[in-house]
Amino acid sequence: MEAQVLFEADLSPEFLDELAALPEGKHLRECIQCGNCSGMCPVTPTLDHSPRRIFAMIRAGMKDEVLRSSTPWVCSSCYRCTVKCPSDIKITEIMYAIKRRAIREDVKPDDTDAHRFAKLFVESVSKNGRSHEMGLLMNYMMFHHPVAMMKQSVFGMRMIGKGRMPLFAHKIEDLDNFRKMVDRAVELEGAEGV
Ligand code: SF4
Ligand code: SF4
Repeated sequence: MEAQVLFEADLSPEFLDELAALPEGKHLRECIQCGNCSGMCPVTPTLDHSPRRIFAMIRAGMKDEVLRSSTPWVCSSCYRCTVKCPSDIKITEIMYAIKRRAIREDVKPDDTDAHRFAKLFVESVSKNGRSHEMGLLMNYMMFHHPVAMMKQSVFGMRMIGKGRMPLFAHKIEDLDNFRKMVDRAVELEGAEGV
């Protein structure tokens, strides 16, 4: 991370309060900066800010930098950090809270299109009740990374041949109720304020 001069006027100290007020933010203020989360995280080498640093930035009121970070989008939700946090901070859930806030404020990470991928993934799951890798691949890779898609086509064909990647989406049985649940979650998320 490049050395950066921070001016008080550019900081948002209320950001910590807002996240801490969420159910998943209960122990947020108790981060002791031990670094267990960063040490445990399997994707740390690919992150622009490690989980430990994200919590330091939240505490410092660096809201814009946190919302612009690719870290929550690259997070694979493996929960290793959450299990190992000595302060019982719901780290993975906080990553989701940051993503929700970034979507609401239309802030996108500078160096990744994980934001777009996440949106397409959610659309796919909302449509079928479960993820459909082939549909996601066509919507995401074909239009945004066609060269990479061509390079991986042999591997993809093998996956299809072995039945590991179905061509057509399998919808869940009670899709109507699933969509009601998603709509309700969106409604609650909107009311929650973060
Ligand atoms: S493991 Fe928990 S306490 Fe330690 S740095 Fe990460 S969030 Fe903070
Ligand atoms: S849940 Fe996310 S931040 Fe935590 S260890 Fe897994 S990938 Fe890293």
